[in-house]
Amino acid sequence: MPEGICRYCSQLKPLVKAHIIPEAFFRAIGKGGEALLLITDVASSPHPKRAPIGVYDNQILCDPCERRFDKVDAYGTKTLLHTLRGAALVPLRRGFGVVGFRAAGIDQQLLKRFFVAALWRASVSTGRSSSEYASAQSTKNLPRPL
Ligand SMILES: [Zn+2]
Repeated sequence: MPEGICRYCSQLKPLVKAHIIPEAFFRAIGKGGEALLLITDVASSPHPKRAPIGVYDNQILCDPCERRFDKVDAYGTKTLLHTLRGAALVPLRRGFGVVGFRAAGIDQQLLKRFFVAALWRASVSTGRSSSEYASAQSTKNLPRPL
């Protein structure tokens, strides 16, 4: 395990593999087929890259800090991949069209924290592929999400 400064607690510790977006999303999308291709518009990446377990960075979080994300990652994954489907989504109509959907029983605060946590990981990631998500320079002073 490489040692480095954890971007969450700012301590020198062994760092672990931290997914920017939880691995479950990549497994769900790639189910039954080949590993997903990571498509990028970064000019320095001329060759397609397979990303079977998603995009991760092993230089941003120590293990205790990575575990702090477990609850929001689990909730976001469960909600977005399983809960928000079919009859759980009630169409909101205006005039003749559907303008949105309402879902009962969703913890909106926890779901928002899931999105903020993924964005925070992308913002602090120094990995090459992280530049596809956010610029570390422009988000340098973001507060910690949890
Ligand atoms: Zn840490």
